[in-house]
Amino acid sequence: MAAAGIVLAGGKGSRMQSDVPKQYMELLGKPLLYYALKAFEESDAESVVLVTGAGEEAYCRKELVERFGFTKVIGIVAGGAERYDSVWSGLRCLKVQAEPDYVLIHDGARPLVTTELINRMITETEQYGACVAGMPVKDTIQMTDERGTITLTPKRDSLWTAQTPQSFEFSMAYDAYERLMEESEIRVTDDAMVVGLYHDIPIQMVRGSYMNIKVTTPEDLVLAEAFLKKRR
Ligand code: C5P
Repeated sequence: MAAAGIVLAGGKGSRMQSDVPKQYMELLGKPLLYYALKAFEESDAESVVLVTGAGEEAYCRKELVERFGFTKVIGIVAGGAERYDSVWSGLRCLKVQAEPDYVLIHDGARPLVTTELINRMITETEQYGACVAGMPVKDTIQMTDERGTITLTPKRDSLWTAQTPQSFEFSMAYDAYERLMEESEIRVTDDAMVVGLYHDIPIQMVRGSYMNIKVTTPEDLVLAEAFLKKRR
């Protein structure tokens, strides 16, 4: 059974307050995006589509794929305005180029994903059909109303933070995104939400890692570098 990855790097990274898009900022001398691509390169996934900002495809081919010799990257495509537009670009490319059995959708901004986690997601998806990597929350999470008054404190032992990869049977993910794109009023930030909207399938939480952070704001760069150093 063939699995493929979609590595997303089509965001603007506006919360990073940097002139260089965050996916190309250097971490221990390599572009941030290198690390996720490297983990996929060494994994059981057979192919990878890289989704970049429009106009950045040639740069990515030269400075990432060719420079580091990533042989599994079968397509580099431009993303869209929202994350789900970028996922849809990746899914369409995979449909034409590979039509895999399973797809793993991963934020390129999570450089600490490991080959071990990718392989475990593939195995779990073979069993469950739809999976999300995540970790139990450490803090108490509270909901507030618009005035800041706490309205709900859910029990912590059932709360997880969703990470990526999120992995699905390819046909199910493709179908869900195709339908999402037809319904312009729905806005989502999470792939499992999309699949859950259109398919009545239980989605399995798979234990990720507290190190699998998404690099979003400048302090995350310090953390990611520290974790990468620890891992070496
Ligand atoms: O914006 P957010 O932090 O949720 O982005 C998560 C991942 O999705 C990042 O790797 C980012 O590059 C990617 N993304 C994308 N296209 C967008 C927005 C985000 O590929 N339009």
